[in-house]
Amino acid sequence: MIAIVGAGAGGGLLARELAKNGKEVIIFEKGPYVDSKDAYKYYNEYPKDVDLLATSCVGGSTIVSMANMVRALDSELHEFGIDLTKEYEYVEELVGVHELDDSHIGRGTQLFLDAAEELGLDVCKMPKAIREEDCIQCGKCAFGCPVDAKWSAKNFIDEAVELGATLISEATVVDVVLCNMEACGIRYVRDGEEKVLKTDKIVLCAGAVDSAVLLKNMGLTGIARELFFDPFVTVGGYLKDINFNTEVQMAGLVVGKNFVLSPHFSSFIRENIPYDDVEDKDILSIMVKTPDQSKGYVHTDGFVNKTNTITDIRYLAEGVATAGFILEKAGVDPKTIGSTVYRGAHPGGTAAIGKVVDSNLETEIENLYVCDASVLPISPGKPPILTILALAKRLADYLNYM
Ligand SMILES: Cc1cc2nc3c(=O)[nH]c(=O)nc-3n(C[C@H](O)[C@H](O)[C@H](O)COP(=O)(O)OP(=O)(O)OC[C@H]3O[C@@H](n4cnc5c(N)ncnc54)[C@H](O)[C@@H]3O)c2cc1C
Repeated sequence: MIAIVGAGAGGGLLARELAKNGKEVIIFEKGPYVDSKDAYKYYNEYPKDVDLLATSCVGGSTIVSMANMVRALDSELHEFGIDLTKEYEYVEELVGVHELDDSHIGRGTQLFLDAAEELGLDVCKMPKAIREEDCIQCGKCAFGCPVDAKWSAKNFIDEAVELGATLISEATVVDVVLCNMEACGIRYVRDGEEKVLKTDKIVLCAGAVDSAVLLKNMGLTGIARELFFDPFVTVGGYLKDINFNTEVQMAGLVVGKNFVLSPHFSSFIRENIPYDDVEDKDILSIMVKTPDQSKGYVHTDGFVNKTNTITDIRYLAEGVATAGFILEKAGVDPKTIGSTVYRGAHPGGTAAIGKVVDSNLETEIENLYVCDASVLPISPGKPPILTILALAKRLADYLNYM
């Protein structure tokens, strides 16, 4: 029996692929099984000094994602002998990655694409896993899709269960049990009761913070000292009646050397725009996301510290300046441009390949694996789900073969 801890990006694909191959799989998820439209209620709360976004429910953070799907970290993973070419092809087809049809490119997004092109930037439509025939273009992806038009890992968990896997939701794994220094079970809490389940293998897919806490509490070394979180800000300004807030979000992409830019509305942007009586419908805004240096730390109680380096700030400044040029070219009055605070939605790097896990994602403890954003060796600075899915497919093939 293989126990999977966490029903998000890594755990979802792994469960599906293992169950499809007839393996006995049991998935533990600390959050509940919810309708996608209610996912916004399950954002985690972190201490005030770190603005980190992640959700706890079946589907993990993928359920509030924008369904942006790009390949990342190819050369960095090659250094560890990992070539994900065929896994990427498999998962891209599985989740239906494609550029949105023009019918789903709103006016604000088109202004972004045109302005970036006129400025000579490297611009394209964002590859997405959204079904246009179901999408109602409400701009609410980050709340959880009201009509289930975008892919989330919850789909994979549903499939895994249909294929015979067991899902235990609202069950928090608190420890990995060892027998003769090998992983042989897990300890979990459900309805206030602590239970132990014996398993042959355990894969931690609890995300970069929670997987790190579990490993750290087992006494493994080198854990959680190098957290990154792909910081971002949303920069926007006044453009009367653009109605960008109800478009499909992040449907365009500019790839710079040290940042990526994508049209994005944030519910926090209005209060930061220096223009009287501005309404959400009058804002055009852009997300600026950068790869950060891995200067974060997760404590054994899950407390997260994150330091921003001079390089992080420099990259962010380059991205913000470029976003400002695009907004101005798109018709935004530059005197009205403002920005949200610095946040992170892609925590990773806490159990990195080559440091904590080997290239088969196994830890120094036999039969204990990690398969989530924790294993990414450095910050991708771009959407990581596709890379996590490809790594999970690779691990599933390995475990299916064993
Ligand atoms: C608003 C938002 C938008 C995003 N948009 C995109 C996007 O468009 N494209 C992209 O590539 N990335 C996006 N991301 C990032 C992406 O969602 C994450 O990087 C990805 O989901 C991480 O996968 P994971 O497997 O590491 O963890 P998760 O998907 O977060 O899954 C971890 C799961 O483990 C569970 N868990 C934790 N601890 C325990 C425990 N002790 N016991 C049992 N279960 C546990 C959690 O509840 C959670 O369900 C977005 C993130 C956010 C917050």
